[in-house]
Amino acid sequence: MPEATVLTGGCLCRRVRYRAGPPLYTVSVCHCESCRRGIGAHAVAWLTVSRASLQFADELPAQYASSAGIFRAHCAACGTAISYYTAARPDEIDLTVGSLDDPGRLAPADHIWMADALPWDRPQDGLPQHPGTRPLP
Ligand SMILES: [Zn+2]
Ligand SMILES: [Zn+2]
Repeated sequence: MPEATVLTGGCLCRRVRYRAGPPLYTVSVCHCESCRRGIGAHAVAWLTVSRASLQFADELPAQYASSAGIFRAHCAACGTAISYYTAARPDEIDLTVGSLDDPGRLAPADHIWMADALPWDRPQDGLPQHPGTRPLP
């Protein structure tokens, strides 16, 4: 588990600013189709924090229900993807590592949903690659 730390981040246009943390688990890079379409990138790195720890400065991100009980949030002005919430994990929320102010501090530990990965998307970083969600610890 990563060391306890408070993280700050926000969107490209800086209307949405947040602080949250510490991360609850290691970072995973998700290759699922839903993330691909929702974010417009072939893969996206996510970290997880407690929902109670996430605080927005002024503007709240816009929310979109991508499936029943699943809400993806992004800046309504510039579109930066900020968070992913599922009612299956009501006390947690996932944040895009790319929206952090210092994303280099949180290197991913694995790749998930590789069954959805595009044919040219074959990570060569040596990290574990799971066909679906990460195995339970
Ligand atoms: Zn923005
Ligand atoms: Zn995904």
